[in-house]
Amino acid sequence: ARKFFVGGNFKMNGTIESVKSIVKNLNDAKLDSNVDVVIAPPALYLLLVREHLKPGLEVAAQNVFDKPNGAYTGEISVSQLKDSNINWTILGHSERRTILGESDEVVASKTKVATEGGIGVIWCCGESLEERESGKTISVIEKQLAAVSAKIGDWSKVVIAYEPIWAIGTGKVATVQQAQEVHASIRSWLKANVSEDVAKQTRILYGGSVNGKNCKELAKEEDIDGFLVGGASLKPEFVDIINAN
Ligand code: 13P
Repeated sequence: ARKFFVGGNFKMNGTIESVKSIVKNLNDAKLDSNVDVVIAPPALYLLLVREHLKPGLEVAAQNVFDKPNGAYTGEISVSQLKDSNINWTILGHSERRTILGESDEVVASKTKVATEGGIGVIWCCGESLEERESGKTISVIEKQLAAVSAKIGDWSKVVIAYEPIWAIGTGKVATVQQAQEVHASIRSWLKANVSEDVAKQTRILYGGSVNGKNCKELAKEEDIDGFLVGGASLKPEFVDIINAN
C-alpha cells in the first residue's frame, strides 16, 4: 500500500511569527504516524522551519534551479537545499508555470536535477478551466507527464500532485469523481509508459481547495494518496487533513 502523503504549500505567505506558530501547532498535534508530512514555507523561512519542526516531519522548498552552484542570481541549488537538510522541493506548480513562465521542459529539467541530486520532488500537473471545458484535461496532463518522463529515470523520489488550476485558491474543489478519474488516468499512463511498479508505487496527491471538511471523502478514493494543500495548510485544520485517511 502507498503511504499517505500530505504536503503544505505556504506559497508566498507568512511572517517569522506566523510560520513559527504553524510549526508549533504541528509539533504539538497528534498526527497519524502513517503519513508523510512535508511543509513548504517560502525559501526565506526554510532554515527556521527546519530548525524548529520536530524530526520526522519534512520540509520542502517551493522551487529549485536546475544548475549546480554558480552565477544564477536569485536562484537556489539542490546542493544548497541538501546542505540545509531540506530534502524535498515542489516543482511545476501551476503558479510557476503560468505566472513565472516555466515550460513543461523547464519543469522536467528541474525534476531531473533534483531527483538525481537526491531530493524528493512533489511534481505538479493540472489543467486550466478552458482546457477542461474543451475536453483536453487528460491530454494536457499526459503532455506534462511525457516531458518529465523523457528526462528522469528514477521515479522513487517523485510524488505527483494533480492540481486542476480552476480549483486552486477558488474554494471550488474538484468532485471526488473528477479527481479520481484523473488520478486513475495518471496511474494508467505510468503503467503504459514507465512501468507497472512505478504505477503501483507512485503517490498521486490531489490539490485545489482541500480543507478540513472535504478531505475525508477524497481520501477514500483508490487512487488519491494524499493532498497538496495551499490555504488550509496555514490554518489549524491542516492537522485534520493530515489525519484524513
Ligand atoms: P489551495 O489549497 O489554496 O487551493 O491551493 C492549492 C495549491 O495550489 C497547493 O499547491
